[in-house]
Amino acid sequence: MNNLVSISGGNDSIAMLQWVIENRQHFPEDRFVATYINTGWAVSWWAERMVKVGEFCEENDIEYVEIKPDLGFEDLVRKKGGFPNKIHKWCTQELKVKPSIKWRKENKLTPKNTILFTGVRADESIRRSKYTSTDEREGYDVINPIVYLNDEQRNELVLKTGFDVLPTRSSECHPCIYEASKTKLRNIEEDRIELIHNIELDVTDYQNARRKMQKNPKYNPDEIFTMFPSANLGGNGKGGIKEQVKWANSARGKYMLGQDDMFCDEQFGYCGD
Ligand code: SF4
Repeated sequence: MNNLVSISGGNDSIAMLQWVIENRQHFPEDRFVATYINTGWAVSWWAERMVKVGEFCEENDIEYVEIKPDLGFEDLVRKKGGFPNKIHKWCTQELKVKPSIKWRKENKLTPKNTILFTGVRADESIRRSKYTSTDEREGYDVINPIVYLNDEQRNELVLKTGFDVLPTRSSECHPCIYEASKTKLRNIEEDRIELIHNIELDVTDYQNARRKMQKNPKYNPDEIFTMFPSANLGGNGKGGIKEQVKWANSARGKYMLGQDDMFCDEQFGYCGD
């Protein structure tokens, strides 16, 4: 049997790898493969971390595979002419689900010969609180080995690996479309702010030209099509990333308590820790 351990490189992923190591005797004949999807949008230091995660896997008889979608986050945004958002949330599907399915197909890993392992945990969110240790995804049997662990128990597993416990969620997307809180905006790397700003300018040119051509009543040449079009952000979220980060760093403004806890809950096991 093939066991595909779906990892993003965050704390839950590391804890799950440790769980596999500690429980390997229950799967004596099985092959374990850790799969990481490189979205092309990770924080600057993530690639280096994933090299270490890969080495850790190999040292512990777990194969390590990096799956790359044909187009990364930036290319997809440019191709589609807009950022993903909570309504048009195509990023998980395009960056993770489709490339995973394609890779499994290419490697003949079918529901008959393969089990998926995910690092979801029930105490991550209200929706995830209903998760159990077994499930089904895309026709495959799924094992969620750390589903009932709380933060403390998860951290104990992480520390056994030699990795430190990260103070944040997984950063394989930096920023994630759900990270529109003041705190998260403050922590976006300078280069990434510049990149998002440049993409916003291109997307804005495209969308405004399109609306103008179509005589769309919503056409407004001053509208900026931003990555975070949230009314909760400074300037109604319409100022673009640079304005939003400026707002996030200012003393004034409304901070939405609880926003830090938002993340993608829809396609389980693909986005999270
Ligand atoms: S981590 Fe966030 S930005 Fe990345 S694919 Fe998942 S929901 Fe989209």
